[in-house]
Amino acid sequence: MAVAPGQGILAHRNADGSIHTYVAVNRPEAWLTNDVGSATKRVAALFDGWAPPLRALIAGSDALPVVRPIHALPPLLTWPRAPGVTLLGDAAHLMSPFAGEGANLAMLDGAELGHALVHSSGDREGALAAFESDMFARSGPVAQRSAANLSRFFGPDAPTDVVELFASR
Ligand SMILES: Cc1cc2nc3c(=O)[nH]c(=O)nc-3n(C[C@H](O)[C@H](O)[C@H](O)COP(=O)(O)OP(=O)(O)OC[C@H]3O[C@@H](n4cnc5c(N)ncnc54)[C@H](O)[C@@H]3O)c2cc1C
Repeated sequence: MAVAPGQGILAHRNADGSIHTYVAVNRPEAWLTNDVGSATKRVAALFDGWAPPLRALIAGSDALPVVRPIHALPPLLTWPRAPGVTLLGDAAHLMSPFAGEGANLAMLDGAELGHALVHSSGDREGALAAFESDMFARSGPVAQRSAANLSRFFGPDAPTDVVELFASR
């Protein structure tokens, strides 16, 4: 991975030997989607001056970019109980992918919700209230970490902040 304020390149090798590259840019979604055909060239131009092997991860791509906008709910968002309904996964605690936990939380939410309902002994509202309370406590700190990591990766102090993060592990 190589990151700088407002942009970065994150790549990994797949089991079949191909390389999957995420290129992060701080641009409105329409900047990419209005003309996906020229997006690779326009995105590559944002990395002029970067090391050629890194630029090759963009310019040498054999696929059109897939646009994945990053949205997030405010960390620690909660809401009053609405009888008969609940939210889980991204619907409840959408966060940037920079904690690497969104899918894990969504699966755990599903398991915990199922567990709460099965053991509700007929008190469905009580079970949903307890589920939401536990979910808020579980997801809030992760959402905070994700928001902090997003700033670390693409904020004004990138990449120094990222180096410090990994050095601290
Ligand atoms: C670039 C990127 C990288 C990520 N990396 C990681 C990672 O490394 N680790 C990790 O844990 N998480 C990661 N995540 C986050 C993870 O993908 C999500 O947190 C997770 O998919 C949330 O699951 P979900 O079931 O709540 O929502 P979703 O996966 O969004 O599922 C919701 C489903 O509902 C469907 N749907 C929507 N509206 C309707 C409708 N009206 N009727 C019927 N169906 C509907 C959608 O099509 C979708 O299939 C990443 C996300 C992104 C964008």
